[in-house]
Amino acid sequence: MTNRMYKSTRNSETKVTASQAILSGLAPDGGLYVPEDFPVLDVPLERLAGMTYQETAFEVMKLFLTDFTQEELKGCIARAYDDKFDTPSIAPMRKCRNAWYLELFHGQTIAFKDMALSILPHLLTTAAAKCGENREIVILTATSGDTGKAALAGFADVPGTRIMVFYPKNGVSPIQEKQMVTQEGKNVCVAGIRGNFDDAQSMVKQLFTDPDLRRELSERGYRFSSANSINIGRLIPQVVYYVYAYGRLLQEEAVRPGEPVNFTVPTGNFGNILAAYYASRIGIPVKQLICASNENKVLFDFFKTGIYDRNREFLLTTSPSMDILISSNLERMIYEAAGEDADQCRKYMEDLQRSGRYEIDESMKKNLCMYRGGYASVEETAAQIRKVFETEGYLLDPHTAVASFVCDRFREESGDDTPTVIVSTASPYKFTRSVMEALGRSDESADDFALADQISALTGVPVPAAVSQIRDAEILHHLVVNREEMEGAVKEFLS
Ligand SMILES: *Cc1c(COP(=O)(O)O)cnc(C)c1O
Repeated sequence: MTNRMYKSTRNSETKVTASQAILSGLAPDGGLYVPEDFPVLDVPLERLAGMTYQETAFEVMKLFLTDFTQEELKGCIARAYDDKFDTPSIAPMRKCRNAWYLELFHGQTIAFKDMALSILPHLLTTAAAKCGENREIVILTATSGDTGKAALAGFADVPGTRIMVFYPKNGVSPIQEKQMVTQEGKNVCVAGIRGNFDDAQSMVKQLFTDPDLRRELSERGYRFSSANSINIGRLIPQVVYYVYAYGRLLQEEAVRPGEPVNFTVPTGNFGNILAAYYASRIGIPVKQLICASNENKVLFDFFKTGIYDRNREFLLTTSPSMDILISSNLERMIYEAAGEDADQCRKYMEDLQRSGRYEIDESMKKNLCMYRGGYASVEETAAQIRKVFETEGYLLDPHTAVASFVCDRFREESGDDTPTVIVSTASPYKFTRSVMEALGRSDESADDFALADQISALTGVPVPAAVSQIRDAEILHHLVVNREEMEGAVKEFLS
């Protein structure tokens, strides 16, 4: 069998294997790797109903990672999706009145980033061995709150790797921050930056593609890679749970094989929803992908007008992991919508870099018709948390609540009653203060951990280990830097 190759969204001539794409993270031209063509699931849809998460993962990932042997892939899957998750189903679905919540927060850091970052270290070290890479791999990561901890947990003390995480010092929840700054491990470093997520992400991308820095580090035995969703090794494991969700709906007889579903996805960097699109490309029947934003609604405006414009105020909301104005993974979708025209895609991205804005043409807009945009304000998000809790007894985190609100509004306005999955990306225990305020139970005197106890008393759901373990943990990382100091901080960490 010939290998499925990956090409850059900014230059179709570059072709690499899956292993090389995972190892590099970003293409040398600054583009993102995409599969040269899309495979199709070779199990019939009806068989998905009976498959475990791990079996589904194998069926999906083997289509994309063709240069991994079956044994390698099965090994990676078994080591990733084990009892680090608090439920054997890994990604359980919860039915509410008019939708299914796909709970992706049962991993060790209680956010959906665990779904991919539990397996990425295994994929990456396997890929490194396969490519004969003997330099130490340095993972540089920018985080809007959840990727950081999930990547740290995945890579801590993994031989042959080091990891450095940058997070916006004032842009994450107290529990998110504490999760990161208490991270143990000989190969980890965490730094706050004075700036927002976009600052952190653009600087990481710049460091990544800086030829002088690469050369200097290479001479010292290091090679950069990425744990952000710009890495195709993050995206492919995310396709799995959409396929798995369809299997669960079949099993529940909510759909018959071939009947379409809608997915509503709380969106920031556009990685999660892009994975849903990839699931549709490999054969999952999808009618609509509903892209839910918070008040940083660049994507909502984009799907409405065809104009992507980041020139606006960056707002801090109660759903910090979606506080993003530059959604990196949209580039992969733009490339597709442009008919895989890398020159066109590169021009848009250059416009974005130069002026913060680009506008797509009508034919491209048509190619994006599977997507619908929606958004929720901070008040609407809080009201949704309260409404769902009061009517269903089910407590949503603010990110999931954004999606839930957008989903309700979409159904109301369109009359669409296609079976719908709302992707539930974090546990409410990660955002205790916003959640309690939404329920009208704010308590200024209680810290975020005390609020976790209150939530537990209210819902009867025990406080997850991810929260109770860090409550009294020692703070190990104190570094805070300016944007311009990030390069120095990386060099320092590696010296
Ligand atoms: C990262 C994250 C998102 C956004 O996902 P993208 O793939 O960046 O669009 C949404 N919710 C939570 C809780 C997250 O951690």
